[in-house]
Amino acid sequence: MSEVVKKAKEPLKCCGYMPARNGFDKKGRQRYRCPECKKSFIEKPSPDFSPEEKEEIVKDFKESGFNQNATAQNRGITRYRLGKIVKEVTGMDCKTLVVSFFQKREEQKKEEPKL
Ligand SMILES: [Zn+2]
Repeated sequence: MSEVVKKAKEPLKCCGYMPARNGFDKKGRQRYRCPECKKSFIEKPSPDFSPEEKEEIVKDFKESGFNQNATAQNRGITRYRLGKIVKEVTGMDCKTLVVSFFQKREEQKKEEPKL
């Protein structure tokens, strides 16, 4: 089991050397090695979400009134990451999603029968 290096740009705790890239592990994660003691490390993986969780995040985003900061903060992710998830789930970036949401709502209003 490889130890985890938080940031590949910081010196390693073991000997204080900068980690050297050392190929990839079986899961495709970047591997690093200490040039001194040859201890190996992997880069800390960013938290990943299941497809269901991603759908939920997009739902949260809509329910928050498209508040990117609030949604990202609630989920402990960056706005950039949120944008990527939104794009993945809906095929649209945040801005396009918001525009299309309000367009659809306008259309639905028009389709409502008049009393
Ligand atoms: Zn070392």
